[in-house]
Order: sequence, then C-alpha cells, then structure tokens
Amino acid sequence: MTDTAPKRFTRSFTQQEPLDEEAIAAAIAVMRTGRLHRYNTAVGEESEASLLEREFAATTGASFCLAVASGGTAMQIALSAAGIGPGDRVLTNGFTLSPVPGAIAAIGAETVLVETDETLTIDLADLEAKARQGSCLLLSHMRGHLADMEAVTEICARHGLTLIEDCAHTMGASWAGKASGRWGLAGCFSTQTYKHANTGEGGLVISDDADFMARAIIRSGSYMLYDRHGAAPPVESFAAARLDMPNGSARMDNLRATILRPQLRRLPEQARRWQERYAVLETALRQSPHCVLRQIPAAESHVGSSIQFRVPGFSPAQIADLVEGCAMRGVELKWFGAAEPKGYTSAHRSWRYVPPQELPKTDRVLTSLLDMRIPLTFDLDDCALIAEIIREELERVA
Ligand SMILES: *Cc1c(COP(=O)(O)O)cnc(C)c1O
Repeated sequence: MTDTAPKRFTRSFTQQEPLDEEAIAAAIAVMRTGRLHRYNTAVGEESEASLLEREFAATTGASFCLAVASGGTAMQIALSAAGIGPGDRVLTNGFTLSPVPGAIAAIGAETVLVETDETLTIDLADLEAKARQGSCLLLSHMRGHLADMEAVTEICARHGLTLIEDCAHTMGASWAGKASGRWGLAGCFSTQTYKHANTGEGGLVISDDADFMARAIIRSGSYMLYDRHGAAPPVESFAAARLDMPNGSARMDNLRATILRPQLRRLPEQARRWQERYAVLETALRQSPHCVLRQIPAAESHVGSSIQFRVPGFSPAQIADLVEGCAMRGVELKWFGAAEPKGYTSAHRSWRYVPPQELPKTDRVLTSLLDMRIPLTFDLDDCALIAEIIREELERVA
C-alpha cells in the first residue's frame, strides 16, 4: 500500500550546512582574545576583518575591499561613496529583492525601475530607453542570473551611468571569465545566512577606485582608523573623505570576519556543489512540458543556489494549487506573482517607498514565476526527489 502513497520530501529548505570545524575553532580563538571590534588589536596585530578584506580583494582581483555589516549596508555605502544622494535617481531591476530599492531609499535617492525580461535579467532595450533618467545603475544579479555584461557596461559608458553591482546571489559567479562585481565602479556582496557564505549578517564592497573606496571606508564608520584596513587605498586618498563623509557605523566585527575567511577559501568547491544540484533539478524540470527555465548562456559561470521556472500555461488559481500541492508534499516553492508579499518574496508594487511605475513585461514574467531555494544540505538524490514531486504536481494541476 505504501508503494502507491505519494512521495514526500521531509528536509528543510532553510537549513544551511553547519560551519566547519576550522571556522568554529577560529571563532573560539577570537572570542578568547576579547578583541571583537575590528579596530581593537594588540600591538603588531592585523585584525581578522582586515585580513578578510585582503583575502577577498585577492580572490576577486579587486584592488580594494571593505567588510561591512550587511549586503544592504554595502549597497547604501557604495551609492553614497559614488556621490549619489537626495535628488538623484538610481536605476535598478524591476525584479529584485526589497533591500535593493531599500538601499536607494535609505540614501534619499529615487528608484527608477527597469524591466526584467524572460531571462530574469535586466531588459537591455528598456535600460537603453531609461538610461538618461538617472546617474547610476544599481544592477541586481537577482537569483544569480547575469545579464550580458559587455552589453550592460557599453550602455552605461555611452550614457554616463555609474555601474554598481548587487552580487548578493553571484558570489563566485562570472561572465566571460570576469567575476561578478568587477564590471563597474563597485560590487556589493552579502554573507547573510541564505547567500553563498554564512556569517548570519555581513557584507563586502570591492572596487578598483581609490577615491571611491576611501569614501566608502569612512562612510562605513572607520573613524580616523582607516589606515587599519588591509585592502585600502594609500592614506593620501583619504584627505578629503576623512572629514567629508558621514560616519554610518556599519562595520563588520572580527568574529564574523573570522568565520568568513575559511568559507571564502571553500567558495569554488561550494559553487561546484551548487552547480551539480542545480543540474539535477534543471534536467528533470526541463522534461516537463509545463515548465520554462532560463537557458544559462555559455558565457555565464552560474552558481545555482536557487532555481526558478515559469509555468506560462497556468492560471493564477492553478499556480496557487501547484504551490499548495508541493507544500503538502514538503516542497517549498515561492511565487512572485502572488497578490500579497510573503516571506522574503515581494514584487515592485509592494514597495511603497518607490514611486509607482508601469512594468508590463516584468509583471508578465512574475505572474508565472516560481522560485525554490537549493541549500547545500540537500544531496543529489534529494534534488531528484524534489523534481519528481514538482513534475507530478504539475501533471495533477495541468
Ligand atoms: C539578500 C539580498 C541583498 C541584501 O543582503 P542583506 O545582507 O540581507 O542585507 C541584496 N540583494 C539581493 C538580491 C538579496 O537577495
């Protein structure tokens, strides 16, 4: 009898892997010193936060790196250090997460939303059309999907748009061999639990621009201790910024830096593990006639920490039924087309701090878009079972 009972998945979609013993031991060592604040160092000691900055700069090839309190503050600091403020307009993707328009609102600037197309990346024709409406593009690589970065940088250069990348979902990813976060003035990363490294909360900013990074460091709350940063520009670069930039108190502490350092060393391996899991899910879901998945371009090295598919043939009632049916069998899908924002999911109409804008193309894509996390605690068999359940539910609802 049990053979015919519908299969259920029982593992948690929000359970990340435990920290490895190296990170735990390093954290205990830092706690034993009591020197948790990044500027609290013994004579001759370089802080963990400073070492982290050095290492992340080296990993990405950036000249400079700054560790901060979160991905959201990384974006606020980057916008502010780029000279953006009240009265300025910043372009960003219509499909992203609320901390992105939230960062623009936090510095007093106004958000101009650019359409997202079927590839889940920024619509280049709409970017071209709206480029003159702002001075900066905060490009969100939402859910790890990279736009054609050569085309994006060409449009930005032609219209004088400063490019800042939101790499919350692309740590470890690249386009045409060049790391995400390295295409414009700055790249902003998150090390919050649900991203590609886990420090609870945390963020990183990278750049090659000395003046920008000097302003960013002061803005992050460095006081006059900016010479204690392992991947900072020379002290001369701080001449104006040191007294001009407001102190935003958004520093990363040594405890989080300590547990992040070994995780960054494992990033290529983790990226490969995500790719394997993504491939199992993608291959199985593509066999369903109801699912449309983005074809990842050859130029893109993608880190599949989540997967998205569209069900364009389904009505909203059918999609709600699908989400419900999968949930009953232990598979958590999120629907970006739902009328009310739920959990981490929201659509542009729910952001009341952004002037209402018409985005028919984005709305059309979001109406049928489903989204699922792939934590590394799932193995390849788990991914195969999840795909089987989704396919059965698609058939039941169709
Ligand atoms: C999580 C997230 C951020 C912000 O990161 P936090 O560290 O949570 O502030 C930015 N952009 C996107 C697309 C995100 O998902």
